Amino acid sequence: MDFAFDARTEELRARLLAFMDEHVYPAEAVAEEQRAGLASPWEVPPVVEELKAEAKRRGLWNLFLPDERYGAGLTNLQYAPLAEITGRSPQLAPTALNCAAPDTGNMEVLAQFGTEEQKKRWLEPLLAGEIRSAFAMTEPDVASSDATNIETRIERDGDAYVITGRKWYISGALHPDCRVFIVMGKTDPEGADIRRQQSMVLVPRDTPGVEVRRAMRVYGYEDHYHGGHAEVVLDGVRVPADHLVGEEGGGFAIAQARLGPGRIHHCMRLIGMAERAIELMCRRAVSRTAFGKPLAAQGVVQEWIADSRVAVEQLRLLVLKTAWLMDTVGNRGAHTEIQAIKIATPRTVTEIIDKAVQLHGAGGVSQDFPLAELWAAARTLRLADGPDEVHRRSLARRELKRYA
Ligand SMILES: Cc1cc2nc3c(=O)[nH]c(=O)nc-3n(C[C@H](O)[C@H](O)[C@H](O)COP(=O)(O)OP(=O)(O)OC[C@H]3O[C@@H](n4cnc5c(N)ncnc54)[C@H](O)[C@@H]3O)c2cc1C
Repeated sequence: MDFAFDARTEELRARLLAFMDEHVYPAEAVAEEQRAGLASPWEVPPVVEELKAEAKRRGLWNLFLPDERYGAGLTNLQYAPLAEITGRSPQLAPTALNCAAPDTGNMEVLAQFGTEEQKKRWLEPLLAGEIRSAFAMTEPDVASSDATNIETRIERDGDAYVITGRKWYISGALHPDCRVFIVMGKTDPEGADIRRQQSMVLVPRDTPGVEVRRAMRVYGYEDHYHGGHAEVVLDGVRVPADHLVGEEGGGFAIAQARLGPGRIHHCMRLIGMAERAIELMCRRAVSRTAFGKPLAAQGVVQEWIADSRVAVEQLRLLVLKTAWLMDTVGNRGAHTEIQAIKIATPRTVTEIIDKAVQLHGAGGVSQDFPLAELWAAARTLRLADGPDEVHRRSLARRELKRYA
């Protein structure tokens, strides 16, 4: 039994479900076929642009942006069940709706902190789905889960900033339409306040000194649909001073503001991934026989299915509560819950997908089912946007504070 959401959400949900059935699921096989014929693995299969055009035509565009000037003006609670549906086809659906990371977070940053000129140059084409973007914070040489470690230098030189550093796992950087990076680095490395040393700056991808060096893999996958995860070297990259985002020293605070919505969006989509895995698990269980009876008749398989259903219902409730809190008391007031879903969702969804993999036998780890790729994607979210341990540490500290 599904929740009943408000009328607008229900209407959008019905429209999105129809779009998924009529266009997105059928496009999954088409995209793979088209990809095999492309000259470069980073080229985008033509069906993706067709999906974008159709989603736009159906009014399923920029649903993630709560600000009506830029997007659909939905609350987090309204967006949650829609993002969940897109998670069922994570390679195609979020992109089709212009709701894919890292562009979503970058658009939010530009909408919130960008100057009029920056909005015109970068936000408008991003909102139109004409270009893509990347967010460059993590560095191979330092423990980047602690943002105060970041070593990339952003040095003021006259009316320009000069950027030098090495980043990796920069999602989307290999996408042929990726035109701009938001780069985090230190403008004041000796500053007394370690949270005011960092700044963010916009770096057009074609700036001299920017080298997208190689594609990093994720459990062997290159994540072509997302534009990969690149190692990027910035060697004396010079951009005009007006490319600074917000104020000097404001990088840490902007990163925090960016990550609240980003984390819940990932969790919403993860629930959709879990639902897809449960569906595949059930279909396989009733259609395959071993040792004289369908797999569905095995007690252990029934347990997997039951446990998965219980877990996904629990997760969804927690995600919806978090979305509601973000809408009503703000991201800061929802801090504990945002961390709770960030810890609970990728871990539990990975376990659910793993059961579906097991039930599919060799097929589960193959390219013929989406399960192996879904598992890898869910597993990486225990690292991306901050590892589990960092969130647990911070949540526990807040909990303990009440008793100290
Ligand atoms: C698929 C994928 C996509 C990504 N996309 C991007 C992107 O677009 N842009 C970007 O900038 N980055 C991106 N990242 C990087 C990601 O955000 C970082 O990997 C993450 O923040 C952790 O940083 P690190 O890898 O340097 O790990 P480290 O900081 O070296 O941490 C390693 C491990 O140390 C342990 N640890 C760290 N701190 C603590 C603590 N306080 N208590 C206990 N244990 C601790 C944890 O187990 C942690 O996993 C992506 C990563 C992946 C895998």
